[in-house]
Amino acid sequence: LRTLTPPAPAQNGAHVLRAPFQLEPPQAKTLAMLRQHGDLSRTEIADATGYSRATITTVINHLIDIGIVEEIGDGISNGGRRPRVLSFRADFGYLVGIDMGATSLDLVLADFKGTILTHDAIEIDVRQGAVAILTVIRDCVLARLREANIAAERVYAFGIGVPGPVDFNAGMLIAPPIMPGWDGYPIRTFIRETFPNAVAIIDNDVNVMALGELRAGAGRTHKNFLFVKVGTGIGAGIICNGVIHRGADGSAGDIGHICADKNGPTCHCGNIGCLEAIAAGPPIAARALEAVRENRSSILAKYAQVTGGKLTAIDVGRAAAEGDPIANEIIHDSGRIIGEVLASLVNFFNPSLILIGGGVSGIGHQFLAAIRRGILHRSLPLATRHLRIDISPMGANAGTAGALALAMEHVFVV
Ligand SMILES: [Zn+2]
Repeated sequence: LRTLTPPAPAQNGAHVLRAPFQLEPPQAKTLAMLRQHGDLSRTEIADATGYSRATITTVINHLIDIGIVEEIGDGISNGGRRPRVLSFRADFGYLVGIDMGATSLDLVLADFKGTILTHDAIEIDVRQGAVAILTVIRDCVLARLREANIAAERVYAFGIGVPGPVDFNAGMLIAPPIMPGWDGYPIRTFIRETFPNAVAIIDNDVNVMALGELRAGAGRTHKNFLFVKVGTGIGAGIICNGVIHRGADGSAGDIGHICADKNGPTCHCGNIGCLEAIAAGPPIAARALEAVRENRSSILAKYAQVTGGKLTAIDVGRAAAEGDPIANEIIHDSGRIIGEVLASLVNFFNPSLILIGGGVSGIGHQFLAAIRRGILHRSLPLATRHLRIDISPMGANAGTAGALALAMEHVFVV
């Protein structure tokens, strides 16, 4: 068996290693079993993994040496000597998960089992650029570690979801429309300056949300599904055969720029009639403001008055809930157009689940109803026979759960 990465100089007597950790398949299977099923004996691990007792004994000895597994006492005997019970050490190291939006970020610190220790919600302006925002992140993590008396060297992975296109292998944003100053910035290098043993995995926010649903949410029982985020823009995370499908260059799922109306408005990307230029949060708000200007909705006018002439998609949802017919029509149109585009994706990809998330997904049940009708109306019967279409039940937590899963799944390399 190859060993894990050679230990870096020890700190306070504890093993300090550098991620990612290279594992042989028996080591990986053993760790996965202990992480998923809790405390087990060597015999139980050997039986469940199919490896010999001798192999498992070697693996366990090594994992105990490294400090990631410990013996925690005696199990139940089947007649002979009572077996020693082994446990995965949650305090072996720490993980950071970050869900970054345009104006806020959620940051969680978790132990190695993925138990969240701290959660910070921080207001940011992503346009301030990579160094400013990464400094905020670094300082927040350092403060939380200090409070818990944990050295920065014990953080082994960062999972970071960002609102822009990501070259996943390079760990960089590529020409992000709402994140100028992040284009090609080496995020991993910045993280390693303060957290020398940590890997940093950067992915598009929608992919990260899809991963969160896959590991901890409604996606757990599905192998092929779409997570569709409707907010300032529209994008989809694609789970194909149980893994994120990123495509050849990392841009798979960028459905916001599919043409939904050849006679539609010009999108910020320069093309005509893109889905997000017609049906995302800003066009919903713009249509509502137009109705206010034309005196067609007293309820929307009331909301605009409160906010000094501004409206959001959420305001339109509230007006619809109060029975405003114009607000209802706007929400219905947006849902229908999104549904029609999703119908093409259903015919192409045949998912068993579509989850709708993002800030606009909370504007009311008629939005979901219109999306459903749009999909069912245009899809082939075979493709929709087992199709569920729901609002993401994890909501905002999908991003941080996915970011932690991203960190956890890349800290080990098999
Ligand atoms: Zn576009």
